[in-house]
Amino acid sequence: MSHGITHKYSIEWLVHYQCSYCSGWWSIGDGPIEGMVHCPWCGTRYELKPKDEERGTMNDER
Ligand SMILES: [Zn+2]
Repeated sequence: MSHGITHKYSIEWLVHYQCSYCSGWWSIGDGPIEGMVHCPWCGTRYELKPKDEERGTMNDER
């Protein structure tokens, strides 16, 4: 592979998820940032929520 001077590259969109139920982490390249996701650790399906909304409900509890 020493011939050729053209270098190709791609930028990967990698999304990191944390499951609300088992706290397991996983990543998906080109993954969704809204809608439904499926946890590979415990198998739970749940809807993604923006982080700002999560912080709002946490403040209410305290
Ligand atoms: Zn899980």
